Amino acid sequence: MRYVIAGNSVAAVAAIEAIRRRDDGGEIVVISPEPRTAYCRPLITYHLAGQVPSERLPYKQEGFYRARDVRVIYGKALEGLEPEKGRVVLTGGERLEYDRLLLAMGARPFIPPMDGVEGPGVYPFTSIDHMEAVEAHLKDWREVVVVGAGMIGMKAAEALHSRGVRVTIVELLDKILPVVLDNASSLWAQETLEKAGVEYVLGDSVVAVERDPQGGVRGVTLKSGTFIPCQGVIVAVGVRPNVGPLEGSGIEVNKGVIVDDRMETSLENVFAAGDLVEAYDLILGAKRPIQLWPLAYRQGLIAGANLAGGRKRYVGGFPINSVGFFGFKVASAGLSTVEPGVEESFEVLVYEDREKGIFRKAVVGNNRLMGFLLLNDTSRAGIYSGLIWSRMDVSPFKDALVEEVSLAEACRAVTRGMEPWSFDSMRDFRRMGWALFPRSYRKHFTAMPSRIEEVCAFESEVCTI
Ligand SMILES: Cc1cc2nc3c(=O)[nH]c(=O)nc-3n(C[C@H](O)[C@H](O)[C@H](O)COP(=O)(O)OP(=O)(O)OC[C@H]3O[C@@H](n4cnc5c(N)ncnc54)[C@H](O)[C@@H]3O)c2cc1C
Repeated sequence: MRYVIAGNSVAAVAAIEAIRRRDDGGEIVVISPEPRTAYCRPLITYHLAGQVPSERLPYKQEGFYRARDVRVIYGKALEGLEPEKGRVVLTGGERLEYDRLLLAMGARPFIPPMDGVEGPGVYPFTSIDHMEAVEAHLKDWREVVVVGAGMIGMKAAEALHSRGVRVTIVELLDKILPVVLDNASSLWAQETLEKAGVEYVLGDSVVAVERDPQGGVRGVTLKSGTFIPCQGVIVAVGVRPNVGPLEGSGIEVNKGVIVDDRMETSLENVFAAGDLVEAYDLILGAKRPIQLWPLAYRQGLIAGANLAGGRKRYVGGFPINSVGFFGFKVASAGLSTVEPGVEESFEVLVYEDREKGIFRKAVVGNNRLMGFLLLNDTSRAGIYSGLIWSRMDVSPFKDALVEEVSLAEACRAVTRGMEPWSFDSMRDFRRMGWALFPRSYRKHFTAMPSRIEEVCAFESEVCTI
């Protein structure tokens, strides 16, 4: 049996682990265009900021592949798929046959059309190569424009700011972190940026990168006509499933590769996992890409087990984010952007205390917690996520969800009628959130590398128990 895995990141690693649990004799071949072992993509901005040394970037070392008898073809990509012949086409035209194939090629940065975008000085920020290219310019860059105020844009902006570069963020929508924050919380984020001395422009977009006669970047022009001088541009407006190489193969694709709950695609013996796919969103009740490390890992485990003849099912996931920038911490999940009083089908509970720096929001629909948003004090993230997972009826205690009661009181309210726990400490509170997670999800979290736990504040709250 030959397993071919296209991609060499977290979904691929999880699949390798799962295959070897069931099949220690089959041949595993990994196709890796990047010339390095799997690494912790979420850490690249922290590395640029000088907070994470290079030796902590690898997620797996060569020994991981050696110990599992995995052959990695470095420097080549999957460029085509011939399912009727059971083979993939690699860079240079070489064909490689498979018995079972896993597509784990992740997502590609989306570069919107802008005049002058091609050429030096303009980079996305999703790989070690991008990070190294930016780092090489830092000695010459005094001003940088970051296009996009999403997670990656904000993290990149913070890293550049910490390296002494003057940063201006340009966001098309009228909010910072528009897929996570609502109107009120975005104002908090804006104040944080102002205090840190980071410029931002909302509701505008870059239409042209202006270059000097030598081709170097000298600034950007916005749709409004404003010119912002800069020597470098980071484009962070989002990523798209990397489906290009699958064109013409007949595989079912919408935005991402469509998979069933076994992570199997529409093609026989071809599975897919991670940022490449559209899998089930537990909250929306529909398939869509949710591009997060923990979900990629879990999908990879399930795909790997099923490639090797297992019968594992993916129950679904939902977006959970944690990000901290300039000392501002955000933890969110699910429908966090729903505005109070706008949509009848949701009740939005908010507790806000500007002086203490506390903002808590819970979005309840059909008596279930459908989303939350926490600023600065993110200690309830574990329990909120557990409530979303468990689909527990929160109506008897929904007010206690956001109110400024002690942790112990909140837990007592939440657990009324459940098994008694002692909630004397933050640790107990987190354990409660943990207990509500399904076992399969817990297993995933314990498999997370500790360095990611350290960085992703919310995840560490869930993982360290
Ligand atoms: C800066 C940054 C910060 C992030 N922060 C967080 C965070 O805090 N929390 C979180 O949950 N998630 C975060 N993410 C998202 C997370 O990194 C991804 O969800 C996760 O890496 C997806 O894993 P994956 O295995 O699907 O693919 P990827 O990690 O995208 O890797 C894709 C793999 O496929 C390879 N490949 C590409 N094209 C081909 C091809 N044609 N043939 C073969 N191989 C190919 C690539 O070289 C790579 O090995 C962040 C991402 C970035 C970029």
